Amino acid sequence: MYCINCNNKVDEKWKYCIKCGKSLINDNSTIDEIKVEEIKDKEKKDTILYISLFFIGLGGLIFLDNFKGIFFLLSLVSIVTGYVKYPKNKIIKIIFWIFVILFILFIIFAVVAIIACIRELPNCTNIG
Ligand SMILES: [Zn+2]
Repeated sequence: MYCINCNNKVDEKWKYCIKCGKSLINDNSTIDEIKVEEIKDKEKKDTILYISLFFIGLGGLIFLDNFKGIFFLLSLVSIVTGYVKYPKNKIIKIIFWIFVILFILFIIFAVVAIIACIRELPNCTNIG
């Protein structure tokens, strides 16, 4: 193992680093805390990234006429990836489920519109 203070190679039996004098006994908890902080920090950055990509996709879907499929995929992939990676993240979870509900509603409305269209075929202009 290595001293977390000076990176000097140290024996696990040693109580102090012979190079810098740092105690080697209680430092495991410090390392764990640093790791937890790093993981939290990474989750925060990833959350911001996935949510940004999701809203870029959503914005494209709503405001641009072209490439709707690509923007939809961008939204879908970023929020699903975020949800799979961080299922406990509250913000991702909320956006994911809102997205799922909206998607289901959209499909229901599309199906209803198509059925209504088929029934009144001569007046049907909604398909496509
Ligand atoms: Zn040291």
